[in-house]
Amino acid sequence: MNRSAAPLLHIDGSQGEGGGQVLRTALALSLCLGRPFRMVNIRAGRKKPGLRPQHLTAVRAAAEIGRAKVEGDQPASQELCFQPGKLTPGKYQFTMLTAGSTILVLQTILPALLTAQGPSRLVLEGGTHNPMAPPFDFLVHAFLPLLTRMGAKVKTQLLQYGFYPAGGGRIRVDIDPVGTLKPLDLTGRGRLRGIEARAIVSRLPEHIALRELDVIARELDLGKDCLSMQVETGANSPGNVVWVAVHSEHVTEVFTGFGRRGVPAEAVADEVVQETRRYLQAGNVAAAEYLADQLLLPLALAGKGSFTTVEPSRHTLTNIEVIRQFTGCRFRCLPIGEDACRIGLG
Ligand code: AMP
Repeated sequence: MNRSAAPLLHIDGSQGEGGGQVLRTALALSLCLGRPFRMVNIRAGRKKPGLRPQHLTAVRAAAEIGRAKVEGDQPASQELCFQPGKLTPGKYQFTMLTAGSTILVLQTILPALLTAQGPSRLVLEGGTHNPMAPPFDFLVHAFLPLLTRMGAKVKTQLLQYGFYPAGGGRIRVDIDPVGTLKPLDLTGRGRLRGIEARAIVSRLPEHIALRELDVIARELDLGKDCLSMQVETGANSPGNVVWVAVHSEHVTEVFTGFGRRGVPAEAVADEVVQETRRYLQAGNVAAAEYLADQLLLPLALAGKGSFTTVEPSRHTLTNIEVIRQFTGCRFRCLPIGEDACRIGLG
């Protein structure tokens, strides 16, 4: 498509989930397709609507790599006009002074940089382990291996942990462009290879991690060799996360609990147990809720592919609709069992 001639697309940011994902998907596809857009009602479905620091950083990162003209990129703005220019790979650093998620900023610009004319090196500063966002471990163990199977060449390094709400984390990402992504078909996760759990504490008592691991070991019936504790000394603030990785033949899924003030370690661990159980009980599905909504965009760029997952979340349904508005691609969701469906394209 001739980038300058593409007509302006009007997107309603309040549709469906009405959160930040509508904006990030729009920015990502705008960069990939050279399609300008105007968005109104940005994050209208959230308690504090409009552009928060993380979204503003995503907009500015997208604008910088896409040499875009932007209107409305102010804090709390609920309206944005984004007109992409020449996609320009290279070395970039984007910093959030809060714990805005570095992973979500990366997911905004990664698809375009995968199709760029040269390699890129990104340094992203902010949160690496934020509630309501994919933590670094999910990116590395669940999302990127699937993207790699689609042909992507992405190397990541966690240089410093950044926990909510202080942030201060840093990741480095090296991206080698691949042109077009290959389709991915994940009919099921396949045989279970193993489950591991890791609890991380930074500037907090170790017993928090130990109590979390105790609950997970008991509830998921895991032996000692499946558990690990990490006492993180490099972060600039207190923090605690606990994650469970389910390694199967065709996919690894990661479920994360975020320690927070006023919530006992046992309750944080129990949230992870519940998420893990839901996945394991949903039959032979490949992706759980979060991975499902994040796989849609790469699949749409590949133009073909499918995966099995749990019942679609509102994030998934909303993302399907935003992708349709940009690309015309229509994902179909076919129920295949209780809390199980197949989502496919082409
Ligand atoms: P939004 O709420 O619209 O900003 O979107 C949040 C994004 O973060 C969605 O793509 C979710 O799939 C993703 N997400 C939220 N929590 C997790 C988690 N615990 N693990 C992985 N991804 C997550």
